[in-house]
Amino acid sequence: MGRIPEETVAQVLDATDIVDLIGSYFPLKRAGTNFVCNCPFHQEKTASFNINPAGQYYHCFGCKESGNAIGFLINYENLPFIDAVKKLADRANIPIIEDVYDPEADKRRRRISRLKEINNEAARYFHKLLLKSPDAQHARDYLKSRGFSKETAEKWLIGWAPKNSSIFLNHLKAKGFNGGEFKNAGLGNLRDKDNPRAGLYSKFYDQLSFPIKNDYGDVVGFSCRILRADDKRGKYINTADSPLFNKSNLLFGLDQARKAIGREKFALICEGQVDTIVLHEAGFENTVSGLGTAFTEQHARMLKRYTNHVTLCYDADSAGLKAADKAFDHLTAIGLPVKLVHLPAGHDPDTYLQEFGPDQFKELLENARDFFDAKLDSLLPQTNLSSASERAELLSDLSKSVAQMSDALLQDATIQIIATRLRIGTDEFRQLVVTQKNKPTYDRRGNDHVEIKTQPTILDKTISYLCHLSLKSNEAAEYLCEQLDSLYEPLQETPGGNLLQTILARRPDTSSSGTVQAFLLTLPEPDQLALRQDFNIEIPENPVASATEAVTLLLATHLQKKEAALRAQLADPNLPPDQMILIVEEIKHMQEFLKNLDSRFIR
Ligand code: ZN
Repeated sequence: MGRIPEETVAQVLDATDIVDLIGSYFPLKRAGTNFVCNCPFHQEKTASFNINPAGQYYHCFGCKESGNAIGFLINYENLPFIDAVKKLADRANIPIIEDVYDPEADKRRRRISRLKEINNEAARYFHKLLLKSPDAQHARDYLKSRGFSKETAEKWLIGWAPKNSSIFLNHLKAKGFNGGEFKNAGLGNLRDKDNPRAGLYSKFYDQLSFPIKNDYGDVVGFSCRILRADDKRGKYINTADSPLFNKSNLLFGLDQARKAIGREKFALICEGQVDTIVLHEAGFENTVSGLGTAFTEQHARMLKRYTNHVTLCYDADSAGLKAADKAFDHLTAIGLPVKLVHLPAGHDPDTYLQEFGPDQFKELLENARDFFDAKLDSLLPQTNLSSASERAELLSDLSKSVAQMSDALLQDATIQIIATRLRIGTDEFRQLVVTQKNKPTYDRRGNDHVEIKTQPTILDKTISYLCHLSLKSNEAAEYLCEQLDSLYEPLQETPGGNLLQTILARRPDTSSSGTVQAFLLTLPEPDQLALRQDFNIEIPENPVASATEAVTLLLATHLQKKEAALRAQLADPNLPPDQMILIVEEIKHMQEFLKNLDSRFIR
């Protein structure tokens, strides 16, 4: 890897505001012309960590740590110098040209930045249609019915994906984007996977679009909501996972909520995009939500960078309570205390605000209770404690969640609260919690908490091998990056394909084991565990040749699976003849493709 020229380092520092940078990790307080917080480098109760905006440096009066923005990243994120500069450059959108020109790295950077551009362009285009297109009247009506103003739509860049998606495709084409970029951005796919000439389709049509932004405010994907009651698709459809977009590490609204989370000293988590926007508009700007799927461990870790307190505000129904349980498990496992807002039955934040207004909601928030207190409030009225089985079920359910808590003091206090409310002995309940903690994970199969005890991500054997090759050989990684387009579909459908894509998108420099280790630490825990399993594989003498073999094997296996699926369709006696012809053609096409692959890998 090359050296970063000094001018570039200076340019990066110029474009970085150290207050903004450190403020994105911890809530800061103004103190005269400086900002202060508790020192991240030593344990303390009073804030002696000072950030000086004029001089762009930090200094701790307690432990004497000091430095500039780069020094902060080196010390706090444990990054090598070069990576710290790169991270800041990325944040400030400054291209880094290293002294040694690396065409592959350059290509990759350009590819990622094109994906951002196409997403941003799509967001602007959908937004313009929503505001202006005569065909979007029903979308505007819907927003009005939810009480969204034009200003709200503008602030969140809400849009409308046109019913006729070829208008959208033509627009992107006119703006200079190609089909590969469209596909790789997760916006759509080929109409016919084996025949690029048949054209593309868009995942999004006749839907309200909510752009999803990353930490830096770039649009990286969409969550789109259906508008018509007879629309048979899911209520929300998200961008497919791409090198930019991964549901489990994006929180909707975080870019707008970050400052308020620091100010309010807690994050409010709700269930969906519409609730998030409604809450922001009502003045609760510290609100974020996951993207339709459950709240993940990564989400919890992201929030912990900004706050030490979390309040959950989920729908007041059994699905909402279940979702809150999962979020609680992840948050408490990393030591964050959790409160739960108790909405009246049948309400979600939106309906509650409409009926009772923001002042009442504020009162609810202020009265939000400790998670278990609130949970018992909703569970106890429906539980018959004199029934031995109902009682046992409740105790087992509660003890499982308490067992997830990583903060021992908090856990002990919680055990006392629950024991008191259920009128059982503290020791008896503590024993139940200990039993849950010691239970081997295989005993837990079949209950909701299975994925909580972190399980490694499941990796296909070939994928696992390719992941390790990419982490141990720059040449192999380079080669694999070139293959990404043709591997797109197999990677989508093979376990662990996403992890390989992540590694290739970020490609840590394999010549520095520190860089690789630092990169591994940024991955979600299940991925780290999976990669740690076979970390001792040896680098083959010719990594590119080994990568080529593995890629061929991956492609061959994928095609064979597809072919088998098509043959199964052929076996259906009710198959219409015209479809049969199509399938036979497709099988022929696939066999030809297979023939061209290395024959060693075909069964
Ligand atoms: Zn200190």
